[in-house]
Amino acid sequence: MVDVIIAGSGLGGSCAALWLSESNSVTLLSGTAPAASAVAAGLVNPLAGQRMGGFPNAWTAYEDFQHTLHRANALEMYNPCGILRPALNETQASLFFVISQTNPDSLIWLESDQIDEMYPSITAPFGATITKGGVADISKLLDQMATTLMPRCNVIHQNLTDWEDHGSEVTVMLDSETSLQTRKLILAVGAEYQFLSKLKNLHLHCTKGQLVHVSMSTDLPLPVSGAGYAVPAGNKLILGTTYEHSYKDLEPTNEGITKILALTKRMIPSVASAKILGASAGIRVGVPETRLPMVDQLTRNVWILTGLGSKGILLASHIGRNLETWLKTPLSVPDEFRLRNN
Ligand SMILES: Cc1cc2nc3c(=O)[nH]c(=O)nc-3n(C[C@H](O)[C@H](O)[C@H](O)COP(=O)(O)OP(=O)(O)OC[C@H]3O[C@@H](n4cnc5c(N)ncnc54)[C@H](O)[C@@H]3O)c2cc1C
Repeated sequence: MVDVIIAGSGLGGSCAALWLSESNSVTLLSGTAPAASAVAAGLVNPLAGQRMGGFPNAWTAYEDFQHTLHRANALEMYNPCGILRPALNETQASLFFVISQTNPDSLIWLESDQIDEMYPSITAPFGATITKGGVADISKLLDQMATTLMPRCNVIHQNLTDWEDHGSEVTVMLDSETSLQTRKLILAVGAEYQFLSKLKNLHLHCTKGQLVHVSMSTDLPLPVSGAGYAVPAGNKLILGTTYEHSYKDLEPTNEGITKILALTKRMIPSVASAKILGASAGIRVGVPETRLPMVDQLTRNVWILTGLGSKGILLASHIGRNLETWLKTPLSVPDEFRLRNN
């Protein structure tokens, strides 16, 4: 019997496997459903949000992310180039300016004429900040994590279909109609929780997000985030995003693409004439009231790990690095991450 089975190999499951496999025998069920992690734009932004509020422990999560990169031998998959945040109006400009004065280590303020000079392709009439953070190459990072995990975990390319917690161990049923025994089961299945009957009643909310990939028409040395975002990725720009609370399917739509282009050209006018290379979409899972992750025991030996929302890179690293402690001492899970509907 293994110590831990983790269902799901997106950012949540992979980071959990990376940290737990240090001192536990781990089986990772990689699953076959589309992963939100596979489409993520790669922004690593501890000061996310209109008011740069970030989230509790965002800087600790940023450190956890760096440790995770180190542990995965993936340091070169992250560029800590900073994030340019144009203010969208005068009120936001005043707020950003004040925050930059009180947090000089985390961000600097630039007036609009400084932006014009330093980044001629960017329009920031109210000024902008450059905040700590950067861009991760998510597809390479996930590949590298998989490579690092390969000798340390048993990776099975199957889906879990059900489980039974017997109190001393858990039986996990797979879609090949075989079953496995484990001491602990961690469910990190992203939006697929909706199709597992025992998870249907979790108080979660799914939001579809689309991205547009365009050719890089201009030199952009760092990501820009304000009216949507633009993330440099090799010789293309990844533009985002939509937040769709009701949707038909996972396909990108013309409406979504038009919306994203209209948003981002407010910051980067040349986007309007850039060649569209493609579009992608994924589902973010969020916890409605807290907008923080959900990490908790469902039953004695079965844990849920979800709700990474739009901050999957930082939150998955933070959870992964703490998970061993939380599994051993469930009471040490932060209150704000716990299940609310039980
Ligand atoms: C458009 C978009 C852009 C984003 N951009 C960013 C960004 O720039 N920065 C950032 O930090 N975050 C970003 N995010 C958020 C980030 O992608 C998510 O928070 C994160 O990927 C969620 O990871 P996860 O492991 O919880 O879920 P997922 O990545 O969805 O992974 C779930 C995994 O579980 C597997 N699975 C499902 N069912 C089963 C089963 N029954 N058995 C076994 N396995 C199963 C699936 O195959 C999948 O591999 C973005 C999201 C979207 C949609």
